[in-house]
Amino acid sequence: MTNQPRLFGAIEAGGTKFVVAIGNERGEILERERFPTADPASTLAATHAFLRHRGKALGALESIGVASFGPVELDKASPRYGCIGHTPKAGWSGTDMMGGLAREFRCPIGFELDVNAAALAEYRWGAARDVDHLVYLTIGTGIGGGVIIGGAPIHGLMHPEIGHIYPRRHALDLGFEGVCPFHGDCLEGLASGPAILARTGAELRQLDATHPQWEIEADYLGQLCAQLVLTVSPRRIVVGGGVMSSPRLLSLIRPRLQHWLGGYIERGEVHASVDGYVVAPQFGDNAGVLGALALAMDAAAQT
Ligand code: ZN
Repeated sequence: MTNQPRLFGAIEAGGTKFVVAIGNERGEILERERFPTADPASTLAATHAFLRHRGKALGALESIGVASFGPVELDKASPRYGCIGHTPKAGWSGTDMMGGLAREFRCPIGFELDVNAAALAEYRWGAARDVDHLVYLTIGTGIGGGVIIGGAPIHGLMHPEIGHIYPRRHALDLGFEGVCPFHGDCLEGLASGPAILARTGAELRQLDATHPQWEIEADYLGQLCAQLVLTVSPRRIVVGGGVMSSPRLLSLIRPRLQHWLGGYIERGEVHASVDGYVVAPQFGDNAGVLGALALAMDAAAQT
């Protein structure tokens, strides 16, 4: 037996920033570095350099987890497993996020979509650690959602793209065409941070409490939660991201969820106990990198 602590590499590969860390099996981050997402070659080189140098100082890495912005290929039988799909992020389409890591570090590597990984972190250690069916939503520059069913993220045809469903238009919002480059007025096109900015010239938290944008935003996100209740039946919905930085928004979403369910679902979780059903994340901005740590631990356990 050795007393050497188990160490894992964790990479949160975001569209605007990378967070690279080394953590332990208790979900504690020991070292971390963050840098802006530049071109793939220099960004991945900086990622490798951190793990190489800090790993050498702390001890050997048992495995590495990668929580990547999407779309990504999650089918392990595909030759494109671990690669970024078609993305508007310049230069990144087709980037192999895992191959270079596997060649250099020669250890198991876990790979997931970033929101699935964040969901995993909240499930493993955070705001949903007492349930095994949950959805983690992030409402920010885009809208994404990770779905965990029976303790595992959903994979299928690809991964859910919850942000691109079409909500029913709010009566005060009929003239806005939406900002999604693919769909115009899908949910992301109507309720993401850039959509709020396009209508009002401001972030939601900067607007007066009487501004109709609060009601519009809460209604669209309430519709999203209602559709999730009706389709995937989660035991909890965790809602984070930059647009959620005002706690007031969460309290406006809950009654809109109830409105859109129309009294059809009789479970107490969506009625008297709704404050414990639609909740804020425990980890905030740390959910992604902690999710990558969880992926690394799972990859080590599977070998
Ligand atoms: Zn869309």
